[in-house]
This record gives sequence, structure tokens and C-alpha cells, in this order.
Amino acid sequence: MASTPELELEGLPGHPFLEFQPAVDLASGLLLGFEALVRWQHPERGRIDPGELIPWAEAHGAILDLNAWVLQAACEEAQRWPSGMQLAVNCSIVQLRRGEASRSVDRALAATGLLADRLTVEVTERAIADDSAAADLRALVERGIHLAVDDVGTMWTSLEVLRRFAVDTVKIDAAFVRHLESDEGVNRAIVDAIVHVGHSLAMSTVAEGVETARQVEILLEFGADVAQGYYFARPMPADAALALAQVEPRA
Ligand code: C2E
Ligand code: CA
Ligand code: CA
Ligand code: CA
Repeated sequence: MASTPELELEGLPGHPFLEFQPAVDLASGLLLGFEALVRWQHPERGRIDPGELIPWAEAHGAILDLNAWVLQAACEEAQRWPSGMQLAVNCSIVQLRRGEASRSVDRALAATGLLADRLTVEVTERAIADDSAAADLRALVERGIHLAVDDVGTMWTSLEVLRRFAVDTVKIDAAFVRHLESDEGVNRAIVDAIVHVGHSLAMSTVAEGVETARQVEILLEFGADVAQGYYFARPMPADAALALAQVEPRA
């Protein structure tokens, strides 16, 4: 298989690289797979995080190229993992509006040989509610990939939209997870509601930003399925992810 071509962006010296954060089954603690997270290595400034990189790329017409690179590089990496390991990749609303997410997915799967069934595309609540993103979302689902809605709770996704695209996974925003311990009221009610809605629609529920054992306990009480966060592991370089994928027993 051809390896992912290098990416050059005008006005931004350096190169992109990926880190991978484990997703674990809450009840058993077993590793299910990884989410790919992009960073940029700049010759003078050092590492640039996605909070700055993604808005820059969107503003400079570079987001399509960047996300295409992320998809292919991440799929290439996932091909090295044991076959049960899942990969999640974030897609920008800009890609979806241009019909580019499904094209990038096609190219990445064809170039790497990764099975569609092992790939989850994560989109934001804003993207899934956006009419001009609908055609590309539908095209993605037709490929047989899984669809996750990221940062759920920040805008409150409508049930109708979740059903329309046969969403597989809802990811509870880290902001709600963070306040689970201190706030007995509203935050807990929101997390509890998201888990219930997810399960009533046969979707898996993922809690992001899990940092403490107490948060794990509360999430288990609510019946959440999967967790990501520093409590389990920080995002890690590709080689460390590969090593972890190879030693961990599969869920
Ligand atoms: P996200 O998709 O919600 O990703 C989760 C973010 O939370 C990541 O930040 C991750 O490093 C961080 N995180 C994970 N566990 C914990 C924890 O326990 N505590 C805390 N405080 N933080 C935790 P990161 O890597 O800086 O990414 C930020 C955002 O940038 C992502 O949010 C995602 O929306 C976007 N992004 C990252 N990679 C890509 C990409 O390849 N394409 C696109 N379009 N967006 C990306
Ligand atoms: Ca995400
Ligand atoms: Ca998130
Ligand atoms: Ca689906």
C-alpha cells in the first residue's frame, strides 16, 4: 500500500502529525480503538494544537487538504492495528458542505485497504443539523462507516436529526463530564438524559474528558458505554498507540 503523501500548506511551514487517544469500554476497561487527533509541527513555534490549526486551515482554504491528509494517515495507521480495533476521525463542517468528506473517505479506504466498518467519522452537532451537509452525511453512511456526533449537549441535537442519519454514537461533551462530581443537579441530569436518549435510539454513548475514578463511577451508574480521557490515557504518538493495540486484550 502506498504511504500517505506529505502535506505542504502555503503560509504554514512544517508538517502535520497525528496523535491517537484510546477509547475504552467503561464496564470492562478494555480498549476498543482510538480517535485520531491532528497537530502541526512548526519549525520555529513547535507544536500547534488543533484549536488553533483547524480555524487557521478553514480561514486559509487549507481545511480540505488537511482533513484528507488526516483521513488517509489515520487509516494507514489503523491498518497496522489488530483487526478488532476501531478508528475515529473528526470531519469539519466545511468538508461536509462541499461533499468532500465522502470523497476523502473513499480515497483513504482505497489507498489503505481499511474496511469501512472499522472507521467512525465524528461530526459536530452543528454539522449534523446543517442542511447543506446532509447529502455528504448520507453518502458517508452509505459507505458503511459509522457516524458519531461529537460534543453532544452543547447545542442539543434534535432526535429527528439523529435518526435521519442513523447515527451510531453520541459523544457527551467534556464540559458536562467535568462537572459531574461537583454539580449534583443540572449537569447530571443532562448527562443522564443524553445516555437515555442514546440508548432509546440504540446508539452507543461515549463520555469525553474523563479524568477521575469518581467520574467513571457516576458514568457507569448512568449506563454510559465508552470513555475517553486522561484518566485512561492521553492522546499518544502512533507508535505508542500501535504498541497498546497489540498488547491489550480485545473487548
Ligand atoms: P474533540 O474531537 O472533542 O477532541 C477531544 C479533545 O479533548 C482533544 O483535544 C483531546 O486531546 C482532549 N482531551 C481528551 N481527553 C481529555 C481529558 O481527560 N481532559 C482534557 N482536559 N482534555 C482531554 P485536541 O486534540 O486539542 O483537539 C481539539 C479539537 O480539535 C477536537 O475536539 C476536534 O474537534 C478538533 N480536531 C482535532 N483533530 C481534528 C481533525 O483531524 N480534523 C478536524 N476537523 N478537527 C479536529
Ligand atoms: Ca472528536
Ligand atoms: Ca468533543
Ligand atoms: Ca449508522
